[in-house]
Amino acid sequence: MSERFADIVLPLAQPAYTFAVDESLELGEGDAVAVQFGPRNIYTGIVLAVHDRRPQSGKIKTVSRKLFAGPLITPGQLALWRWMADYYMCTEGEIMRAALPSLMKPHAADSEQFDRRMYRPRTERFTALGEGFAAESAELSAELDRLERRAPKQYAAITELAGLATAAGAPADGFIPRRLLSADSAAINALVRKGLMRECVREVGGREPYDTEFVLPQLTQQQQQAFDSIREQWKSRGTVLLHGVTGSGKTEIYMRLIAETAARGGDVLMLVPEIALTSQLTERLQRVFGSRVTVWHSKITQQSRTETYMRLRDSQGGEIVVGARSALFLPLKSLQLVIVDEEHDRGYKQEEPAPRYNARDCAVMLARTAGARTLLGSATPSLESYMNARSGKYGLAQLAERYGQARLPEVVISDTLRAAKRGERRGHFNMELEKRMHQVLAEGGQVMLFQNRRGFAPYVECTSCGHTARCPECNVTLTLHKRTGRLECHYCGYGRPYPAVCPECGAAESVPMGFGTEKVEQQAAQLFPQARILRLDRDAATSEGACRRIVDDFAAGKADILVGTQMISKGFDFGRVALVGILNADNLLRNPDFRASERAFQTIMQVSGRAGRRDGSGQVVIQTAETDHPMIAMAAHGDYEAMARHELAERETFLYPPYSHIIRLTLRHRERPVLYRRTEQLAEVLRKKFGRRLLGPVTPPVDRIRSEYIAQMMLKIENGASLSRARTILREALASPVGKELRNVTIVCDVDPQ
Ligand code: ADP
Ligand code: ZN
Repeated sequence: MSERFADIVLPLAQPAYTFAVDESLELGEGDAVAVQFGPRNIYTGIVLAVHDRRPQSGKIKTVSRKLFAGPLITPGQLALWRWMADYYMCTEGEIMRAALPSLMKPHAADSEQFDRRMYRPRTERFTALGEGFAAESAELSAELDRLERRAPKQYAAITELAGLATAAGAPADGFIPRRLLSADSAAINALVRKGLMRECVREVGGREPYDTEFVLPQLTQQQQQAFDSIREQWKSRGTVLLHGVTGSGKTEIYMRLIAETAARGGDVLMLVPEIALTSQLTERLQRVFGSRVTVWHSKITQQSRTETYMRLRDSQGGEIVVGARSALFLPLKSLQLVIVDEEHDRGYKQEEPAPRYNARDCAVMLARTAGARTLLGSATPSLESYMNARSGKYGLAQLAERYGQARLPEVVISDTLRAAKRGERRGHFNMELEKRMHQVLAEGGQVMLFQNRRGFAPYVECTSCGHTARCPECNVTLTLHKRTGRLECHYCGYGRPYPAVCPECGAAESVPMGFGTEKVEQQAAQLFPQARILRLDRDAATSEGACRRIVDDFAAGKADILVGTQMISKGFDFGRVALVGILNADNLLRNPDFRASERAFQTIMQVSGRAGRRDGSGQVVIQTAETDHPMIAMAAHGDYEAMARHELAERETFLYPPYSHIIRLTLRHRERPVLYRRTEQLAEVLRKKFGRRLLGPVTPPVDRIRSEYIAQMMLKIENGASLSRARTILREALASPVGKELRNVTIVCDVDPQ
């Protein structure tokens, strides 16, 4: 037999290594193996390819141990890994780290430890009546007569088992989980010895058989048209964008498509931006699809993630997976439908660590390789997807109206400067907003208040010397959190108690400047002492459970006002919210990012979309000092098309996405001079290759985080130029040797940064 080799990827930030394959080992693509790597490291490896090409280097290790029966990674997944590693400029090892549950890739010093840490399926004992003793048979009743007199416990055990085995819906093979029997093990063991009972051990993690009848509401005429149009367009295009205003029934359309796909045995992958916030959505899906729905997110325990992974790997199809971005990596073998809800959401982009991928774009890729269909849904599509739909690359379906009696809310723009001048402002509430809140609350409606900053105040200033507290590790001010009485850094988590006097001059008067959700909550309590108020932000929702409690309580009407950050904008369907207040829209516009306007529009629309979802009387008050900013007017009119036209014109002029792709390079080092030398040196190399396509280097607004100084550069590769060639050139530039000292500068490539 000829020599065989395998390219194997390990969960490290390194490319695949080639190992020799032991003669006795059957090995194929996607298999998991245990490999020795260095004297004290054993890792799980994934086989990318098996071939007969001996690598150049002399010494080569042999792999001799396969883990799990059958491949762990599907061919579709491997194709996705390859594409991602190339596109996002990372290693397959980094993808593997993100893709596999950690129990499947323990790191250990020796084999014994590796086996101990490796995932093992849980098992359970099952019991059935003995061969030849079918329930209600003459043989069994003869035995029962005997037992009844001599061994009443055994008699009880066997009648109980016979009862369970003949009950409606009992498994055909007669095996019942032993835990369901109330008899003690002595009785059961005795019966097994006599041959009256049989036992076996099975892996758990399976699932009850499920229904194929799905009860769904009738679609409206508008929805039916969109539904038909999506299916029609799928015949010629893999991906369709569903642009539907909030509350128009996008989810109803998703559910129809899911039902169809699952009923014919196809798998469905539905991505949502932040699953912890979508309990309402998952409950809605579970009501219709029951146990077919698998919910996947980072808060699930490692054991149960791994069981889910294996269950899906071994599934016969018809699975419905709803999950955050990492659900992309689940082994669905019959993938037929991919839905990306709120496709514009930046939560789809993983920023740190690598792979820095956008799950929406990967989902489109994944579906394409699997031959599945993709539906992207949003009330405010990203300009990337919108342009793809306009240019005919994607299909487009629209839902312009809300379902039923619900209308889009009435939007009022309220001038904060004018209100302040006229004395029509208390705290951060214009009279306009306050008045409407009184009215809504008096009528028993609910109010949501949005402010995109958490904490009490983003900085604190000493009134006598002007000192503001800053983070020692990062170049940012510390945010005051009144509830904990601490100053906190929102970049690195550093915190310290809020001092009674100024550490600079000793004066006792320092004032919180600006405002966050905590302060909004406090002022709302002062203005509306009768109202019950809840707050939803990262400080209040410390766990998934805490988050769900806040959402459920508000949905159940246990509070009148919900104050929150971006978190409150995410797809909630609260029926009684009649008024939404955006306390300071200026924050949203003032971002230096080229996407700031698009983001501001999306956020305002998403937050506003929470108002008046059941009846026609929703209102939104947008407080701003920039009342004539074009974006505010467009958001107030809910005019997505106008926003898109306006923004696209600007992006085209400056060749920003979607007219180009950006690769952002971030360099970090603890010493500024070293950082700058490396940055300048790299910039010089890149300038020669990329000319004016290189922007920067620049110092970002926050130029120091966790004690590391930061510099950035951008490559802007216009559409029509080869992005893959740009990546190749960049890879070479990064690989070219540099002096010893400069080698320690961290360089991060982010393709399509958000
Ligand atoms: P979106 O996902 O576009 O925000 P939803 O699907 O959540 O919209 O619909 C908004 C509300 O209207 C939900 O409460 C939903 O149950 C209801 N709804 C939408 N379409 C229908 C329909 N055809 N029949 C019954 N209820 C519907
Ligand atoms: Zn910090």
